Amino acid sequence: MSINTSIEIAINNYKNSLKTSFNLECIFFDMDGVLFNSMPYHAQSWINAFAEYGLNLPEHEPYMNEGSTALYTIEKMFRKYHKREVSLEFAEEIKKRKHALMTEMPMSEVLQPMPQLVEMVKQQNIERWVVTGSAQKGLFGRLSSVFDGNFERDKMITALDVLNGKPNPEPYLKAIEKSGYDNSRAIVIENAPLGVQSAKAAGLFTVAINTGPLEPQSLSESGADIVLDSCDELLALWPQLHALLSK
Ligand code: CA
Repeated sequence: MSINTSIEIAINNYKNSLKTSFNLECIFFDMDGVLFNSMPYHAQSWINAFAEYGLNLPEHEPYMNEGSTALYTIEKMFRKYHKREVSLEFAEEIKKRKHALMTEMPMSEVLQPMPQLVEMVKQQNIERWVVTGSAQKGLFGRLSSVFDGNFERDKMITALDVLNGKPNPEPYLKAIEKSGYDNSRAIVIENAPLGVQSAKAAGLFTVAINTGPLEPQSLSESGADIVLDSCDELLALWPQLHALLSK
């Protein structure tokens, strides 16, 4: 598989937009929908939780809202579909219910072939961080076992580290601050429109992989520099992308 011209142009445009030269030294990985195939379970939990509170949530909405905090999603959906504001108490109740339904779901599978990609990236001496809107317990243990120790506990930004979730830039700004890698040395791998918006608002080069049911346009319109169809495509193109993203 070879890289098409539009990808090369996107990378060159990005490099030219920076005041300094670019050299890839770090990747900020989103988690749900990038490392784990957890989105179908999140989506079903959302649909069931909203249904219990009288809101019939269309199937694409969990994917359109992916990456943002639960409260933000709940407020937005009631505004959109029931034309009303909800109290914080009510939103908290639905949030709790969604989390309870999610814990009843089976454990999410790793998205193949991401362990191979992460291993390849490690061999290239590129740092690996996880930037997620999730705050699931036991998250690190699972990351560590599935990804063969290629992620480290202190190299994570979770929902517990930020006040404002995606699409706010805060999660990625925190990642830049904590890791010390800025937009001349780090890129983002995301799968959701709001995640892409967050990364772009933080000024980072963003590769989107379309692992869910949305149209790829939703990712390009959110500002992704590159949109790929699958994790397989990312792995196949990685050696060339790495070369283009290095000095
Ligand atoms: Ca995601």
